Amino acid sequence: MSASKISVEALTDVGRKRKGNEDAHTVNRELNLYVVADGMGGHAAGEVASKIAVEAIEEFVTLTSGNEEITWPFGLDETISYDGNRLKTAIRHANGKVLEATRESAELEGMATTVAAILVDGDVANLAHVGDSRIYRWCEGEMTLLTSDHSWVNEQIQTGVISPEQARSHPLRNVVTRALGGRADLLVDVQSLTMAPGDVLLVCSDGLTTMIPDEDIAAILGGAEGDIARAARELVDEANDRGGEDNITVVLLKYEG
Ligand code: CA
Repeated sequence: MSASKISVEALTDVGRKRKGNEDAHTVNRELNLYVVADGMGGHAAGEVASKIAVEAIEEFVTLTSGNEEITWPFGLDETISYDGNRLKTAIRHANGKVLEATRESAELEGMATTVAAILVDGDVANLAHVGDSRIYRWCEGEMTLLTSDHSWVNEQIQTGVISPEQARSHPLRNVVTRALGGRADLLVDVQSLTMAPGDVLLVCSDGLTTMIPDEDIAAILGGAEGDIARAARELVDEANDRGGEDNITVVLLKYEG
């Protein structure tokens, strides 16, 4: 693992409408692992799913942080980096853990969770996601969405059936088409990018992005001028000011070089 200087700020908030917070996140400086999970399911089962997921991901990434030989339960994907494999397998391992818990308790039946995760090594950020939690990059004054939601509305947008504007208020806007807790053979989207000093990565749950359009998220990141603590606070406050209809979680990483 090569050293890199990363600043991190994480905030989670229940929002204005929900009783509990079904989001979970982890900031592990030692592993350079940053995860947001957004749980779904009745009777607090969503909280269980997201918590199991972040813990299981951390567990597998820890297991592969040394030089010891380990068994890769799903084999290695030669088309992606080693750290990409660690993330992908960690998420599939977490999927197994969520499914296992679901089978063991009738109360947890149907629970599921999204995941968006970043594993940093030097100036390389390895990203993985499942569901509609997102990762954005702020680089030289421009914001780019790096992930593509596994959601019903995003599929409709991609095929031109509805517009992004219509998606924002669509009754099915919360329906995800891929999540941990669904199929055993879960597909995980993985990518890697090289960061430049000053780059900021934002990992967030949909409680942020359904409340604030991308251009306004970009305006907040720009206005904060690299102060990620300020940006995190302003993002959460803005989502609440606009209604706070869901739990809001933001993890901001700044690559200092
Ligand atoms: Ca949510």
